[in-house]
Amino acid sequence: MKRNRFGFFGAAAGGAIFDIVRREGPISRAQLGRTTALSKSTISLHVDRLLKVGVIKEEARQTDSGPGRRSLLRFATDRGIVVGIELGVTSIDVAVCDLEASVLASYSETLDIAQGPVPVLTRAYEIIEQLLTDVGHDPDADRPMPTLAGIGIGLPGPVNRTLGCVVSPPIMPGWDRYPVRDEVATHFDVPCFVDNDVNVMALGEARAGSARDSESSLFVKIGTGIGAGLVIDGELYRGFKGSAGDIGHIGIDGERTLCSCGNRGCLEVVAGGAGIARRGRELADSGASPMLAEAAARLADESPPREISAVEVGLAASQGDTAALELVIESGRHVGSVLAKLVNFFNPQMVILGGGTVNIGDAFVAAIREMVIRRSTQLATVDLVIRRSAFGEQSGMVGAALMVVDEVFSTRAVTAMVREFDG
Ligand SMILES: [Zn+2]
Repeated sequence: MKRNRFGFFGAAAGGAIFDIVRREGPISRAQLGRTTALSKSTISLHVDRLLKVGVIKEEARQTDSGPGRRSLLRFATDRGIVVGIELGVTSIDVAVCDLEASVLASYSETLDIAQGPVPVLTRAYEIIEQLLTDVGHDPDADRPMPTLAGIGIGLPGPVNRTLGCVVSPPIMPGWDRYPVRDEVATHFDVPCFVDNDVNVMALGEARAGSARDSESSLFVKIGTGIGAGLVIDGELYRGFKGSAGDIGHIGIDGERTLCSCGNRGCLEVVAGGAGIARRGRELADSGASPMLAEAAARLADESPPREISAVEVGLAASQGDTAALELVIESGRHVGSVLAKLVNFFNPQMVILGGGTVNIGDAFVAAIREMVIRRSTQLATVDLVIRRSAFGEQSGMVGAALMVVDEVFSTRAVTAMVREFDG
């Protein structure tokens, strides 16, 4: 990221320099000088302070050209650990990470969010405590090392970040306005941050994943439902009330299926994982898809009996079932036609596709890509990169961990650390 005019002074300059080291490091003092246009002595002054505060580290590196070593600065990622949690509708994923979100220990299990906040958080506490023990964190020590810097949680509903809770979630009975953030922060006596799951994933991809080198990106999660997260100039854009990127209920022309929101023909009820599964069952029932009919009969005999999901539709499509393949391609085109509108409007550098339904087959992703390219303006797509999530199934918990790092080591927070050190 280029900063032509470095408008920071005093402790704030330290905070801003830390931000550059965190995002662009390892970086030399000379490079910092070029990026900020600050003098060598001013850079030295701030760097020395940041080294003493302990938020950056210096390491010697062999130079690429010729003999000799030079010293590079980087974020002190071993200074603490963070916990990232993805709460899904039917699952919980928890990771303990270092400060660059390398996973040190993780655990996943099925957990029904409809049980309500108290049983779900109680179970989450047990998992967190076990994982912290696994990585050698002892909360009873005089000075617990490694230090737990905070806990981040991605939630599958609309999140009010000011209140730290979900608001009127359609699929989370008992969670409406329950103070998730404050409960967790109090239980562990560390800062806690919450956001909706898609924003958390978009942030993770922007900081350490597929969109690491992009200024602007659009992360699209296609799971049971469909949602998007926007990153603009390297920062998550949440909108006025936090609902930016809620694309699942954009209407698809000519579609009439009733959606849980009360409208008809919404993108997610047509082309999300649940929509694909529903239409797959229709193909099985009508006999239009012999493979899906066979799969439906087989799953009904399992104990407990199951129904066709998007996974079976993708499998049938990849094995040559014409009706299933048409369904996969049509669903991908619906997603792609909505994304084309967003690409035209927003002109991102990168579109990242995540969520379990993306894995139902290459035909699905190919259809999305085809529609985005076909229906967007040439200028918007000429250098547009469309790729899958770098973190795959870990993207929720890794993103939640990176949300904590973003908050605890924000420019403002580090400025305050420098000021406290000076004072
Ligand atoms: Zn809807």
